[in-house]
Amino acid sequence: MNTTRMPSIFLGHGSPMAALEDTPLTREWAALGKRLPRPRAILMISAHWETKGILVTAGERPRTIHDFYGFPPALYAQEYKAPGDPELAQQVAQMLAPIGRADLDSWGYDHGTWSVLTHMYPDADIPVIQLSMDLRLSPEGHYQVGKALASLRDQGVLIMGSGNIVHNLRLYDRRPGAPAQPWAQRFTDTVKAKVAAGDHAALIDYMSLDPEVALCFPEPEHFHPLLYILGTQGPGERVEFVTDEVFSSISMTSVLVGAEPLKVAA
Ligand code: ZN
Repeated sequence: MNTTRMPSIFLGHGSPMAALEDTPLTREWAALGKRLPRPRAILMISAHWETKGILVTAGERPRTIHDFYGFPPALYAQEYKAPGDPELAQQVAQMLAPIGRADLDSWGYDHGTWSVLTHMYPDADIPVIQLSMDLRLSPEGHYQVGKALASLRDQGVLIMGSGNIVHNLRLYDRRPGAPAQPWAQRFTDTVKAKVAAGDHAALIDYMSLDPEVALCFPEPEHFHPLLYILGTQGPGERVEFVTDEVFSSISMTSVLVGAEPLKVAA
């Protein structure tokens, strides 16, 4: 068994089209997959799966879910064929009992999971389980679920959250090279400063972080996966920001916890 303590990571995922693209962003995802220690399994918390109670995908072969509308046929043809890990799913469900339970086939891999993993782990040979977010939990509750799962990092499991720190599709400017909206950049910078300072209490109370927070996300489901990843952080553990860009009203900034610093060749 892999005994390295795995890092954990919150990823900004953006448009599902990224699955088909080759851009600086997708190349950064690919580089991350090569840089991080190889996990024995991935536990993914995606913004796109919210349920009553916490469900864990427990099938042998979870299906690829195309949870979007109006995209080109090539995107609907995309499949991510990583195996599941039923045993790990049962373990996770037990760790989160009584609100956690294994789910055989109501869900699978949604685009928050596969649009990123297609680039990070293109061979799809690492087992993946997805965890839903319980709609009834408070921000503190989401954070505590992350804490309850943190010990999996010592069992070779890479815990990933997939969402966006700022996510407002209504105000998204699709023109190429559209600059960051000032409030989107400011909120991203505030969140980064609090993450860097280890001020988790301020991040759990995210609605108080900025007077224009309502513009940053009409609904907070894309922000919440970050709280799980913060919950997995040990005292004094290193953080690093990757894919650190804001496109108009979507922040792609990702937060890597507990990884070795990147070695730069002299
Ligand atoms: Zn999304």
